[in-house]
Amino acid sequence: MTVAIDMQGVTKEFRGRPALSDISWIVETGSIHGLIGANGAGKTTLLRLALGLLWPDQGTIAILGQRLERENAPLRQRVHYAASGRTLAPGFRVAEWLRYASLLYERWDATRCQRLIKALEVDPDKVIGHLSHGMQTSLQLVVAIASRPDLLLLDEPTNGLDVVVKRQILQLIIDMAAAEGTTVVIASHNIEDIERMADTISVLYRGQFILKGEMESIKNHMHRLQVVIPGEWPSDVAQDPRITRVERRGHVGLVTVQGPAEPVVALLQKAGATLVEPIDMDLTDVFRAVLEKEGYTREALEWDSLA
Ligand code: ATP
Repeated sequence: MTVAIDMQGVTKEFRGRPALSDISWIVETGSIHGLIGANGAGKTTLLRLALGLLWPDQGTIAILGQRLERENAPLRQRVHYAASGRTLAPGFRVAEWLRYASLLYERWDATRCQRLIKALEVDPDKVIGHLSHGMQTSLQLVVAIASRPDLLLLDEPTNGLDVVVKRQILQLIIDMAAAEGTTVVIASHNIEDIERMADTISVLYRGQFILKGEMESIKNHMHRLQVVIPGEWPSDVAQDPRITRVERRGHVGLVTVQGPAEPVVALLQKAGATLVEPIDMDLTDVFRAVLEKEGYTREALEWDSLA
């Protein structure tokens, strides 16, 4: 089976500063893949490389089984990129833009487009520049869905969408992937969206992947335990390499664990814990814990220090 995205040893620098370092990234055909990372981690750069908008300094990129070349019009027909916000031609009317898109994409589905425009209440007579931010985002997603790509790259696709429209569009994308085998990559800070949609995930940190895998195994990568140890907490608890964080208030502590929880539960019980209880972690908690482990933390900003 071909893979939708196959990057090997990809490096990209901007003005001598590495944005991506020795990236190897596989996205299986037909999957919905979530790409998460802190600000500046390299998500957009990665998507632009997959699209052929940027060129790597080193490494190879194959998209839908073909090595990415500078000129490959047939491949470009099968890949679509959509980002939120004001990236469309602001002077066009919506209907003009859609006519233009219909000429651009060979697999354009006009019926699907009309139905979506109506359902999302995007006014075809309006000038794009006069649409709200959310409406412009909706329009981009309409074009993405109507162009029937094999690979859909979404960069922060839901910014500016209200919760109702967001749900509607994300569900459509999930259904499209299921019905047509579209591969979808969604880069977003909105981790709840990713948690709802994605079957596989990659986490980028400072231009490198720090975690990749299936949603369930990623969620099982970290665990949080509520722990009560009467008396002093033994120092070896905090120093155990499997324990990435201990937040203590008196006898009670929250212990974050990387990898299987059971051996650490045994360690805590041996250390005199009278209670060790697992606490649910959602993908946001896991992501934060993974970043913290990498040393990515921010102190609270002191309001007075800004004066
Ligand atoms: P965010 O979540 O903030 O959108 P991101 O993960 O998408 O960030 P990128 O936009 O890929 O990150 O940027 C990665 C790094 O590369 C950043 O340090 C950024 O400043 C730098 N960078 C990206 N594009 C350019 C460019 N065209 N010229 C110079 N530096 C760039």
